[in-house]
Amino acid sequence: MEALVGLKERQLIGLRPEDVYSPEIAARVEETDQQVFARNAPCTYEQWMVYPDGHSACFEMRKVPFFDARGKRLGVLGFGRDVTERQRHQQQLEQASREKTTFISTISHELRTPLNGIVGLSRILQETRLDAEQRQYLNTIHVSAVTLGNIFNDIIDLDKIDRHRLQIAPVRVDLPAFLSDLESLTRLMAEQKGLYLHFDLDGDLPHWVQTDGTRLRQVLWNLTGNAIKFTEHGGVTLRVYLIPETPRQLTLRFEVEDTGIGIPASELENIFTMYYQVNDKKHAVGTGIGLAVSRQLVEAMGGTLTVDSEEGHGSCFVLELTVECLDEPEPESNHATPDLRILLLEDVELNITVATALLEKLGHSVTPARCGAEALELVKPGRFDLLLLDIQLPDMTGFEVADQLLERHGTEGLPPMVALTANLIRDKSEYLAHGMTDAIGKPLSVDNLKRVLSQLFATPESNQLAVSPPEESVEVLDMGFLTDYADMVGKEVLVGAVKLFEQM
Ligand code: ADP
Repeated sequence: MEALVGLKERQLIGLRPEDVYSPEIAARVEETDQQVFARNAPCTYEQWMVYPDGHSACFEMRKVPFFDARGKRLGVLGFGRDVTERQRHQQQLEQASREKTTFISTISHELRTPLNGIVGLSRILQETRLDAEQRQYLNTIHVSAVTLGNIFNDIIDLDKIDRHRLQIAPVRVDLPAFLSDLESLTRLMAEQKGLYLHFDLDGDLPHWVQTDGTRLRQVLWNLTGNAIKFTEHGGVTLRVYLIPETPRQLTLRFEVEDTGIGIPASELENIFTMYYQVNDKKHAVGTGIGLAVSRQLVEAMGGTLTVDSEEGHGSCFVLELTVECLDEPEPESNHATPDLRILLLEDVELNITVATALLEKLGHSVTPARCGAEALELVKPGRFDLLLLDIQLPDMTGFEVADQLLERHGTEGLPPMVALTANLIRDKSEYLAHGMTDAIGKPLSVDNLKRVLSQLFATPESNQLAVSPPEESVEVLDMGFLTDYADMVGKEVLVGAVKLFEQM
């Protein structure tokens, strides 16, 4: 005590806490003394104190009431134990744990790039002619890759939640297309396990809503993935209902119900905690983070995620989320002209293959560059109509490439530049500042590409390319798909299906 406050015992006697401690510490001393007197019971707390030489230490304080032989209370006895070292270890442990999550999240980010190649190429392959066995293998490859990607997304979000960096990014979502994607993937998974999948949609679902589609997909995918994982017989039903709120807002209610092993009542809340898995060795495959991350994502979006289940009788997870309804977007004018000459700056071979396949399918020609230097050499005035620039490159960043090109040719001498990035959450102004018009997220999707290309090249002001007049006929039938389908199943089956459709 003498060392701590810098006074001798005889000097201390008779002083009040405020005479020896700083006001803050003195208040705490008084408060805890009073607490012991009021309850006549001990109390324990931690307190940082400062020595006269300025160094501070953390004490675990224990105060107990002090009685004489006849049980009369005489006062309070206080003990302090220096736990600074222990505190420091604890902080180091927490720090190490955070760093570990960050490390795993960084790796996941890296792994996602090659994985995007697998997802993208297997999707393209699915549209080609395959025999039944090949199709089944390919579906498994595709579903596995998507599942793996989802686990990575969970880990990356986990790290963001840990560091309070989670940002919800609401975008325009095409709800029917969103649900049909979810359905086809879930169906592939269910079929592989011999389970049924019922998809039950409210008839009045809006077409366009505003929400963080990526996160919503991630959560629903976790729920349907679990439903299939924990079900051996029967199957999974996904229902989507609509609860009107205001003219512009409505609540979407997703129910994912399975006929699986169910969850004991005592575990119902635990499953939403990190790394928790119901103790059942037979089914313990997974990470235990899916539901924890899902619930935090849903809550960050202002929604709720709950569960109803009975052991042995299946589970039903319910996600409710309020979203904004959007009007139909302006009808897209004619899609990009079919003969754009595109420079694709991208160092990962798989990504080049995927992007080239997609772009060529849309009728463009692609020249790949695998590093910044190569791109700088290839770009000559008038040679390309569009530059697609990856941001992370072996020799420099896509931003540096853009800066150097701007310096060399000026805005006038350059075609539009669009960033390709796996990290879309970045502020868009960052891209604009480097002279880029837009950014497209990876993996590239046909829709995103079409959107950006038509924004860039289908406007009348565009002086880079003549815009051909919009075609009169509106495409009702997806002829590409129909042709593939007819090739696959034969003309008769197709005609039969059309007849059946007519009858119905
Ligand atoms: P993981 O599925 O990777 O183990 P989750 O966080 O997604 O991690 O789920 C945590 C636990 O909750 C699972 O391990 C399982 O015990 C239980 N659980 C989740 N969904 C279901 C379900 N549909 N049926 C039965 N148990 C489930």
